[in-house]
Amino acid sequence: MFLTISTTGTTERPATDLGFLLHKHPGKAQSFTTSHGRAHVLYPEATDQRCTAALLLEVDPVALVRRGKGKGRGGAPDAALAQYVNDRPYAASSLLAVALSTVFRTALKGQCAARPELPERPLPLRVEIPALPARGGADLVHRLFGPLGWTSVEVTPVPLDEHFPEWGDSRYVRLVLAGELKLAEVLRQLYVLLPVLDDAKHYWVAPDEVDKLLRAGDGWLAGHPEHRLITDRYLARRRILTQDAMERLELARLAEADGSEAEELDNAVDETHDTEERPVPLAVRRREAILAALRTAGAQRVLDLGCGQGQLVQALLKDVTFTEVVGVDVSMRALAVASRRLRLDRMGERQSGRVRLLQGSLAYTDKRLAGYDAAVLSEVVEHLDLPRLPALEYAVFGAARPRTVLVTTPNVEYNVRWESLPAGHVRHSDHRFEWTRAQFRTWADTVAGRYGYAVDFVAVGDDDPEVGPPTQMAVFHRSTGDTDTTDTTTHTAETPKEGRAA
Ligand code: SAH
Repeated sequence: MFLTISTTGTTERPATDLGFLLHKHPGKAQSFTTSHGRAHVLYPEATDQRCTAALLLEVDPVALVRRGKGKGRGGAPDAALAQYVNDRPYAASSLLAVALSTVFRTALKGQCAARPELPERPLPLRVEIPALPARGGADLVHRLFGPLGWTSVEVTPVPLDEHFPEWGDSRYVRLVLAGELKLAEVLRQLYVLLPVLDDAKHYWVAPDEVDKLLRAGDGWLAGHPEHRLITDRYLARRRILTQDAMERLELARLAEADGSEAEELDNAVDETHDTEERPVPLAVRRREAILAALRTAGAQRVLDLGCGQGQLVQALLKDVTFTEVVGVDVSMRALAVASRRLRLDRMGERQSGRVRLLQGSLAYTDKRLAGYDAAVLSEVVEHLDLPRLPALEYAVFGAARPRTVLVTTPNVEYNVRWESLPAGHVRHSDHRFEWTRAQFRTWADTVAGRYGYAVDFVAVGDDDPEVGPPTQMAVFHRSTGDTDTTDTTTHTAETPKEGRAA
């Protein structure tokens, strides 16, 4: 069983740096004893331009049986012969993952004493595994590697016997990954995902496997759309371990959430909401209100400004009336999560032609945002410092100038109804302000007046007779008579200077 890792380089940045990163000299072949056989590291090519390292594991099938105490694949009582004659020597499995972690231990940790700057640098990498057991098929391999930042994930089923194509495909695939990633990241992905795809761990899964999984999964597993399947399989479906891991991943995810969406109160259910059916989280009701308002406005090409982790973009794409959807956010991290959520890299051409994610700040005018039917600012304005707000108003209403603009924001009056919110607190630590209904109206009326829009207000969530709804939405429509073409220069002069409202 083997895998190769290749990179390319130049005279200034030679590809043979790979040798430093792996702590294995490109000039010689080396062998190591691992618990299941001999592992060899060798370099089929090593020039400044191209360098390939191969890891080859010679499995000792007899030792395997002895160590395994007669347990067969997945714990099933195999026929005696199958213990000796099986795919172990050929297919990249959990054994290869163990060899990888033994032979490249330091590289896996992202350490390189000789050249400390190297591990931090993403490299153009190509990983090839000629025979990867893929329980769950090619589709699962895509789902596992797709969201991890590779520019291409190529999965080719391996025929049972190439001389007899009519026998069909084996359960192995040839996997080729290509992209710019850090080497340590790649090794950690493989360390976790090889046994997951094999789904037949050869060794007893001890409780410290949870720690190993979380260490290797640091930075990529918590936000992975398949983190449950990965965890479940990696821990060989041991319920208690899986539960422990899932809880710790959830904490990691919340810590990573960066202020967007995972706004606890949003996802919590409105406690005062009296329902017979399962109550709907506020975030969902808000998305529904936004979609309804966009449909009423007849919008087809829509901007989601401050799109965060892409939940609304995803909802918009599900409706074919929206022919083009553009998500914009200042946070690269949020966009990375959005891209994974949408599986942008795996989308068919037709679908990917409808969607784009752009990084940008709404405090600056941006030519890319001109010419759309509608723009949504869902729970975004309260994340800007008040003095920055006029710049956003100009960028959206003055420069981008879509026919329709939807703005949602918390109604601070409603906060007394959240039992879990201490008095006087805002709903999220990153909120710079929260407005009363009157303050929001004043702000919206002023903006509408200044930029030639008419504005209506919609309650989102249950409209409490005393304190109003939890979320307030303003629906701006550009006044008739205004043309669709935008001349940004005429608006520059009126960029307002002072903050308003609140
Ligand atoms: N619209 C999403 C996310 C709201 S959280 C939702 O309704 O769930 C606010 C988002 O606005 C965050 O993702 C944050 O990164 C983004 N944001 C804050 N200031 C911004 C700015 N100046 N330009 C662009 N995006 C900004």
